[in-house]
Amino acid sequence: MNIAIDGPAGAGKSTIAKKLAKDLGYIYVDTGAMYRAMALYFLEQGISASDEAAVSAAADGIDISIRYEGGQQQVLLNGTDVNGKIRREEVGNMASVTSAYPAVRKKLVLLQQKIAKTADVIMDGRDIGTCVLPDAEVKIYLTASSLTRAKRRYGELAEKGEECDLYSIRRDIEERDYRDMHRKLSPLRQADDAVLVDSSELGIDEVVEEILKICRERQ
Ligand code: C5P
Repeated sequence: MNIAIDGPAGAGKSTIAKKLAKDLGYIYVDTGAMYRAMALYFLEQGISASDEAAVSAAADGIDISIRYEGGQQQVLLNGTDVNGKIRREEVGNMASVTSAYPAVRKKLVLLQQKIAKTADVIMDGRDIGTCVLPDAEVKIYLTASSLTRAKRRYGELAEKGEECDLYSIRRDIEERDYRDMHRKLSPLRQADDAVLVDSSELGIDEVVEEILKICRERQ
């Protein structure tokens, strides 16, 4: 069985998917990390996000793969673990722009489909239910209001002692939503057969329980 979880940035997809994977004994695949690893490469090479030709040529030559250590997904960029470098806002914004390019998507979608063939997976992203795994047995579209998502992100950054303001975090989130939902190729949208879960008013355990219930019904 494969489980697809899609939704906008900050809806809690990875937290929920990790818990579900543990409960169900599935492998968790974070596809956003792959787009981020590619974006990191473009940043390190000084490639401009708006230069589609340069991004596409570079994407062709990059090797992205994943491995698991202690149950944690590590994403490898040309053989090097880059997990510690891909969570920065700058990398997320680069990924959000470059993920719209066909050369980038084609390469990563193929890799994701290959991984899903080898095991039961819970995969999260933006196009998993609509494009990567259209036959997934369970599809969830996990969302929350942009204010709720911004407040969560603010809390995470404040905890790490990073300076931030709620207004600009919310604006960044809304800009990223807009780009993800309006790109030509595989825009973020709820698959016709996906169940909508709004986590604005729900805690993590409540969301996990709701999705587990859906999985039990489908099994
Ligand atoms: O989920 P995360 O914020 O790590 O993803 C970073 C960016 O990668 C997203 O803003 C989105 O543009 C892109 N992405 C995508 N398709 C996926 C996963 C992520 O386009 N399946």
